[in-house]
Amino acid sequence: MISNFLFLISDIMQFPIENFRELTTPFYYYDMALFERTVKAMLESASNVDYSVHYAIKACSASEILEVIRRYGLGVDCVSGWEVKAALNAGIMPQKIVFAGVGKQDAEIESAIDADIFCFNVESVEELEIINLIAGKKCKKARVCLRINPDIDAHTHHHITTGLKEDKFGIQMEDMEKAVALCQQLHNIEFIGLHFHIGSQITEMQPYIDLCSRVNDLVGSLESKGFEVKNINVGGGLGIDYKEPDEHSIPDFASFFGVFKKHLRLRSGQTLHFELGRSLVGQCGSLITRVIYVKHGKEKNFVIADAGMTDLIRPALYGAYHRIDNLTSSSSEYGVYDVVGPICESSDVFVRDYKMPLTQRGDLLAIRSAGAYGEVMASQYNMRPLPKHIISAVD
Ligand SMILES: *Cc1c(COP(=O)(O)O)cnc(C)c1O
Repeated sequence: MISNFLFLISDIMQFPIENFRELTTPFYYYDMALFERTVKAMLESASNVDYSVHYAIKACSASEILEVIRRYGLGVDCVSGWEVKAALNAGIMPQKIVFAGVGKQDAEIESAIDADIFCFNVESVEELEIINLIAGKKCKKARVCLRINPDIDAHTHHHITTGLKEDKFGIQMEDMEKAVALCQQLHNIEFIGLHFHIGSQITEMQPYIDLCSRVNDLVGSLESKGFEVKNINVGGGLGIDYKEPDEHSIPDFASFFGVFKKHLRLRSGQTLHFELGRSLVGQCGSLITRVIYVKHGKEKNFVIADAGMTDLIRPALYGAYHRIDNLTSSSSEYGVYDVVGPICESSDVFVRDYKMPLTQRGDLLAIRSAGAYGEVMASQYNMRPLPKHIISAVD
């Protein structure tokens, strides 16, 4: 059995399929047709309710992905000045760019003000004052949303929660009113709304329902004090199905947006913004890697791949699970393997005790659902080259 994948890849690379063993690995493969279907499905669900959606560029910043984002008219969410530059270079309109991050440097702030982006999502009073200072030197007003930490448990891995009191992100709720009042006093700041982001890979809707009621309370209390909140940005975090990527290749956007439609009170003239990363791009990418050795140990059999934690760090960093398909084994028998990389770290393991068709040296594996937080997190540890990517033709 040679899977669909390999036909796609050999098609793109003009590579005769009989010679798959000579493909240079590892590399990321992005299924652009699936990506477009995902973006369309999301936009359909969001357009029923007229929401403004920003793609979180840090999930995957491949130029081909950004080109689709631009073509479909999405905005982008950036967390560094370099991401702002990449978005502008990709032709994204400045009015569609938002910029978050707890540690924005002066030079990053400066260039974002020069570019006249839609807004800064400001994470502290200290940052607010520096943005005011820099905007003042340029005789400009910077638009800001205040990122508020809503103290909501997203029930996800503790390394990817962002909205709990003890997380470093955002301004504490009890300091919100003072921060909004400060915005009114600072001459070069224009307060335009509130921003939230509670975490990532969130698969239950309850945390979002909790977020809605928290946002209702916070916006209500500001309005009762006479502050206008024109924009509400509820961030991203919608999860994907890492276990069954083919059965659930497109997340349930309708339910996700439905929660906000039902539970969030929007006044007329208020705009609701989202920042989606993983849910748009996660299922579209696979890391293609070759088996270097199958090592038979005493207790275990190891499949040693030529990709490692330098190419995809999620399993080592978060204990994340990725499904792995053997693209080239034709065996109807199964083995149980630890699939590991070649890096000199014990945490360089993709998955333990994993059942796969009998695998041998030279086989190609697809590590699935690797489109988000994959290629962008690659490093050169052990002096390895960064992985490249190829894309499928769009249908
Ligand atoms: C990372 C991030 C997102 C996107 O998160 P996903 O889980 O990929 O949807 C959105 N907003 C902010 C501020 C982020 O840091």
